[in-house]
Amino acid sequence: MKVTFPHMGNAWIVIQALFEALDVEVVVPPPTGKGTLNLGTKLAPESACLPLKINLGNYIEAAAKGADTIVITGGTGPCRFGFYGESERQILADAGYDFEVVILEPPDGSLWGLAQRIRYLAGSKNSWARIVGAVRFAYEKSVVLDQVEDLVHAARPRFGDAVAAEKLYAKARQHLIEGTSYTSLHQVPLRLAQAIRDHQAAGGSGDKEPLRVGIVGEIYTILEPFASLDVEQQLGALGVEVDRSIYLSGWVGQHVFRGLAQGYRPLRAYPRLAKPYLGHFVGGHGLETVGAAVNFARRGFDGIIQLLPLGCMPEIVAAGILPRIQADFSIPIMTLTLDEHTGRAGLQTRVEAFVDLLERRKSGRLKRGSVLSVAGK
Ligand code: SF4
Repeated sequence: MKVTFPHMGNAWIVIQALFEALDVEVVVPPPTGKGTLNLGTKLAPESACLPLKINLGNYIEAAAKGADTIVITGGTGPCRFGFYGESERQILADAGYDFEVVILEPPDGSLWGLAQRIRYLAGSKNSWARIVGAVRFAYEKSVVLDQVEDLVHAARPRFGDAVAAEKLYAKARQHLIEGTSYTSLHQVPLRLAQAIRDHQAAGGSGDKEPLRVGIVGEIYTILEPFASLDVEQQLGALGVEVDRSIYLSGWVGQHVFRGLAQGYRPLRAYPRLAKPYLGHFVGGHGLETVGAAVNFARRGFDGIIQLLPLGCMPEIVAAGILPRIQADFSIPIMTLTLDEHTGRAGLQTRVEAFVDLLERRKSGRLKRGSVLSVAGK
């Protein structure tokens, strides 16, 4: 068995760590790029979600490296994610790829079912104690990874030197990949924070407090820079500090481990915050998008950007609600719709215009009421 999985930002670091700790042969797909998307787009139905198209491309590239088994998480509710595993298996089979697909989700809400699927992948050579230890360590890696990403969000706008910030990020990621003990993991964000302080002390940052923008939306497009066309990096280069509604460990803790772990940036408060606007689950991350938008508005963020894969029903529901939050909290909200045809230059122009609007608003050159046509476009 040679296991592979779809990319989703830096999640591969955690998944690789899990399987290597269990001596399961793992094939990390090559980094996602335009070629990956082209491969997936050729096989997928045109109306399929952007993440599914990229997933297919990842699998085909992993198959070329010998992968024969796909591991993917599952989902429930009115959203296509719950069908990804089976749809992807059928699409790949029709194209001549004979993959086994193992869906990691608690069937019928049972964590025991989830444990048995992990056990199946781990094989009889691994004891339960070893499996539990590997899962715990991989999960801790995801929490630290989220801390690192959040530190980088804060560093980018303050550095005034995009190359230096990305170099520090790459170095921290490498330390995380190499970390094989809890102690070494916990040192990664400490060392990164120190490096950021050192850089700032050496005069590597301006004295201006950056604008703050909250990113909300569908998890894949939030976490996968290829899908968002590096929107976080673009914002950082424009002097904006970014925060996200969802981080990897918070999502895994809530959706895969059924709330047994909270991870970084727990999601549990979002339904309560969303309630005045949306009182029930709509699939995907629609409820979290609404709750997180309220949260960012209450925390005094300067603006919010929603990432919406074209045709994503839960995010379309949320997009219909965001203009009310924009009006109630007087906070500019912009929706960016993403698919395989989205061009980097067009997206960058919209992001720059949005940041310009936020800057003028913050400096008092734009009246607060004059932004209310931004959301939902
Ligand atoms: S959340 Fe949206 S993009 Fe993701 S699978 Fe569901 S419908 Fe597709």
